[in-house]
Amino acid sequence: MSTTTLGKTGITVNRNGFGALPIQRIPRETAVALIRKAFRGGIRFFDTGRGYSDSEAKLGEALEGLRKNVFIASKTQAKTGDDLRTDLEKTLAALRTGYLDIYQFHNPPFCPKPGDSSGLYEAMLEAKEAGKIRHIGISNHRLRVAHESVDSGLYETLQFPLSYLAAEKDLELLAKCAAAGMGFIAMKALSGGLITNSAAAYAWIAQFDGVLPIWGIQSETELDEFLSYIENPPALADEIKAVIEKDRAELQGEFCRGCGYCMPCPAGIEINTCARMSRMIRRLPPQRFLTQESRAMMAKVPGCLRCGQCRTACPYGLDAPALIAKNYADYQEILAGKPIEGSEGYRASATLNPFETRSSA
Ligand code: SF4
Ligand code: SF4
Repeated sequence: MSTTTLGKTGITVNRNGFGALPIQRIPRETAVALIRKAFRGGIRFFDTGRGYSDSEAKLGEALEGLRKNVFIASKTQAKTGDDLRTDLEKTLAALRTGYLDIYQFHNPPFCPKPGDSSGLYEAMLEAKEAGKIRHIGISNHRLRVAHESVDSGLYETLQFPLSYLAAEKDLELLAKCAAAGMGFIAMKALSGGLITNSAAAYAWIAQFDGVLPIWGIQSETELDEFLSYIENPPALADEIKAVIEKDRAELQGEFCRGCGYCMPCPAGIEINTCARMSRMIRRLPPQRFLTQESRAMMAKVPGCLRCGQCRTACPYGLDAPALIAKNYADYQEILAGKPIEGSEGYRASATLNPFETRSSA
């Protein structure tokens, strides 16, 4: 087993954290069974958030009676100290626990600090002094806020996207965190589904000390894959390095991570899917993206109002309106019969009637 320690928190676990965002999409019984199986299989770190609908409640039910054997992290989107206090009480009740191991600010647009007039950090400190939380963390998608949180010396962990598609600036942040003794909780280690080789994702991240990936898990198949890595951690061998190099070559440059921070869109466009369509249709089974539902979703793209709201909100600085337009044009060509390269010669026109209805895979 390969373990990692989250900086000065001292939290030491195997390198498979359970990201509990996706369990909000599955029925309660299924989620509870999945989490219990994760625990039996050796997963000890669970990350959730007040903003993930019933994720905390499902975790709370599944982990009841196991509290002292696990680490639980949650997040708040509170904008004031009072909101944070209310959120924390709801979170503790939902999780059926008296304390959180890590409580994180959930992607705030600024780095909360004492005296900044929001009262947020003061409320965190008060909760820590009261024993309701053990460590203070922050999750973010913005490099600027992430750097500020490290520089401030106020945080014990940073949750930030990290995968083998990371840019140099992401690695600089990682090194800075390590130097500051901050734990790094890696989200989007599969880059929102664009990385399909989880062993490669695991092996690449495992080379960094103090980094814990939290895998977004919602099915037993996914869970089994990560559980197998506890006993048999994939190594960064030549074969895996080759996978990583190939993916980097295909996915280099700026791409949509599917985070959804640019939404909702006033024109009802599912930006976080439409902006990635060209890549997803080539990397995953294309039939999944040729359903009537997918076509209807893409059909909204020409309705873009050019308001620019998504461009301003994107933490990666992407020109989302241009990106969705480009993906839309490619999608129309595919529907018209353009071969989908990289997808084993699949031709939309040869295998699928454009007016046929298929359920999503
Ligand atoms: S620019 Fe277009 S896609 Fe972006 S938020 Fe506005 S309407 Fe939606
Ligand atoms: S365009 Fe930016 S904010 Fe929107 S989903 Fe993609 S990466 Fe996230």
